[in-house]
Amino acid sequence: MPRRPPDEPTRIDDAPARRTVFVAPARATRPTAGAPADCPFCAGHEHLAPTEILRSPADEGLPWRARIVPNRYPFVVEGAASGAGPIRPARGVHDVIVESPRHHRSVLEVEPAAWEASWDLARRRLAGLAARRDLAWATVYKNSGPGAGASLEHVHSQLVALDAVPDAVRTTARGGDTAAERLAAARREGRVVAVRGGLAAFVPPAPRQPFETWIVPRGAPAWFHEAEAGLVRDLARLLRAVVAGLAQAAPGADYNWWLLQPPWRRRAARPVAGGWWRIEILPRVTPLAGFELGTGCHVCVVPPRAAARLLRRALPSARSS
Ligand SMILES: [Zn+2]
Repeated sequence: MPRRPPDEPTRIDDAPARRTVFVAPARATRPTAGAPADCPFCAGHEHLAPTEILRSPADEGLPWRARIVPNRYPFVVEGAASGAGPIRPARGVHDVIVESPRHHRSVLEVEPAAWEASWDLARRRLAGLAARRDLAWATVYKNSGPGAGASLEHVHSQLVALDAVPDAVRTTARGGDTAAERLAAARREGRVVAVRGGLAAFVPPAPRQPFETWIVPRGAPAWFHEAEAGLVRDLARLLRAVVAGLAQAAPGADYNWWLLQPPWRRRAARPVAGGWWRIEILPRVTPLAGFELGTGCHVCVVPPRAAARLLRRALPSARSS
């Protein structure tokens, strides 16, 4: 195998430990914070970011509503097929979704037109990537606040597509439950936070952190990129309402969210009839400590039913969100 540049990211699979690590030395040099004066995501600074992939055009006084650009510090990169073996080039796509042309720090500040456009762009980008034979699966995720891994403060999410399905995703996709079964259990156990449009938000039965919340479609395709435009808009609105509720229930808490969906159809180990996409929102209220890191088990200080009750009270009404 020819020598790779030292900065090219590498994927290491430790099969006995069921662990994958992406080694990306260049990420150690990425900037943090990013004041508006030299922010690569602000309108007027487009030349500071890599060449644009997708854009939502101007609307409601905005020069553009949202953009997708390549991540300047990726942990997976495009290239020839990586082959097999425990150590190989880390292949895939790593984008940034810029969720407003203005230097907002929170999704709660983003213009509604920009926010909904961001999710429409994410769906379009995912649909294009799902058609590629060299990719197996993708996600969209948000790191909000330094405690959740954010580096640049300008509001953005990330989109990553991989050439191999992460072990945990494959395990979850085989879970065999359906979104309807999950929602029915949440209703029985008093864990529902909101039901709006074609979506429901509830606290999962075993939350890893206080106020962990999932948003699930009520009867929709297994993959997010196959969702209809109306459902994508509903998701943007409900997700923002949940973030607003979290800001009330756990003031100042950083958070992550991510899109969890099954492997794309042709790569699935078996038919994914029970597969379904969802958004998992994880506030960072308590740090991950030795027990969590050593066992994969979690200690949560708020019971799920109580968390759902507090979030229901804190959620803004559908009209104001
Ligand atoms: Zn900015």
